[in-house]
Amino acid sequence: MMHYDKVIIGGGIVGLATALAIKARDPDCKLAILEKEAAWASHQSSRNSGVIHAGVYYKPGSKKARFARSGNASMLTFCQEHNIPHDQCGKLIIATKNEQRPQLEALRERALQNGLQIDSLTPEQAHEIEPHIQCVAALQVPSTGIVDYAVVASKYAELLLEQGVSLHLNTKVQGIKTIGAKSLISSSQGVFQTKYLISTSGLFSDRIARLYGLDPGMQIVPFRGEYWHVKEGSRHLVRNLIYPVPNPNFPFLGVHMTRLIDGCIHVGPNAVLAFAREGYTWKNIDLRDLGETLTFPGFWKLVRRYGKEGAHEMVRSLLKAAFLRSAQELIPEIQSEDLVRGAAGVRAQALRRDGRLIEDFELIQTKGATFVLNAPSPAATASLEIGKYIADEVYSGSS
Ligand SMILES: Cc1cc2nc3c(=O)[nH]c(=O)nc-3n(C[C@H](O)[C@H](O)[C@H](O)COP(=O)(O)OP(=O)(O)OC[C@H]3O[C@@H](n4cnc5c(N)ncnc54)[C@H](O)[C@@H]3O)c2cc1C
Repeated sequence: MMHYDKVIIGGGIVGLATALAIKARDPDCKLAILEKEAAWASHQSSRNSGVIHAGVYYKPGSKKARFARSGNASMLTFCQEHNIPHDQCGKLIIATKNEQRPQLEALRERALQNGLQIDSLTPEQAHEIEPHIQCVAALQVPSTGIVDYAVVASKYAELLLEQGVSLHLNTKVQGIKTIGAKSLISSSQGVFQTKYLISTSGLFSDRIARLYGLDPGMQIVPFRGEYWHVKEGSRHLVRNLIYPVPNPNFPFLGVHMTRLIDGCIHVGPNAVLAFAREGYTWKNIDLRDLGETLTFPGFWKLVRRYGKEGAHEMVRSLLKAAFLRSAQELIPEIQSEDLVRGAAGVRAQALRRDGRLIEDFELIQTKGATFVLNAPSPAATASLEIGKYIADEVYSGSS
């Protein structure tokens, strides 16, 4: 049996950043990370849009709003200090119809409440930045940037190794027993004993909490986000990041255009129910995962609330023409032959039994453990801030 002061379950960007924050506070801490995959950050943390968010959309005062703003700055500083390629290129949010103007104005006010710089642009000014868009009005967010979060996560892991953290890949946690104040974690690589457990297990955050004997009061419902790529010869259509005004009746941002740090242009992601928690295509079906979703009362309440939008997302996933129409609302010139199907990511969407989506980052702390239950976008941007927050909670509470 291996003995540690603290064990983190889940080696995505949040788990790795939490380990960095713990070592910064307590360099002598005997710390281990257990990750079931053969590489760090194999799921949400490497299958995303690569945007260093500014924090425009989030409810003022929420953890998302606070950590996105400070996380934007800390992520940019981290990239500079470690020579990680990144670009603070800014983004445009564009209203394509007059009826979207009030909502664009509401976004501007929210960004100001969140302490961000945000500029209103005329269509002419917006065209100077993105010549191929069509819009009636736009907002520019200068602090938004881009980076490859897989590169950031592997730098976090490299630093942890240098600091003597015990890094265990291919180590799937299968059971947890508590004995007094200690946890015994059984895994595919043996048993780990720890005085304090932290779970940052993304798409499995609810299951790990239940393994510990906790009722998390929520369930993860997986929503796949599929991307199309713009062919190399058509990349001139998008210079940086172009976002629509989000549908106020739907919890996702809507199909947008994103330049990746390697020069590729992503169009997407959409949001369709995944039939497996790590279901990156329609063909990936996991009967346990799907059964849990379909028997969860909160899911059916969500379907009742967002049924129309959800059906539209499914059509857009299956029919390229429907996806293309969404892309053409932003860039009318883009044509079917400009787009090729790309990779997908799956969002760990935390849902309450009453069908409410948990919007903010959510953690539960008990005497000997902390569980991150909900860490959706912008958690990659905010990873260093979430890590510091967890370390503060752990050391101010029951470490
Ligand atoms: C399509 C998409 C686009 C996004 N775009 C952005 C963006 O542009 N900017 C941004 O800031 N955020 C974005 N996000 C959100 C961001 O990627 C996530 O919020 C973030 O990566 C969450 O990190 P995590 O470490 O909590 O989860 P994950 O990266 O999912 O890591 C959890 C880890 O736990 C491991 N694990 C699970 N169960 C076990 C077990 N039993 N034993 C051992 N290990 C286990 C998993 O293998 C996994 O590696 C996006 C997300 C998606 C899906």
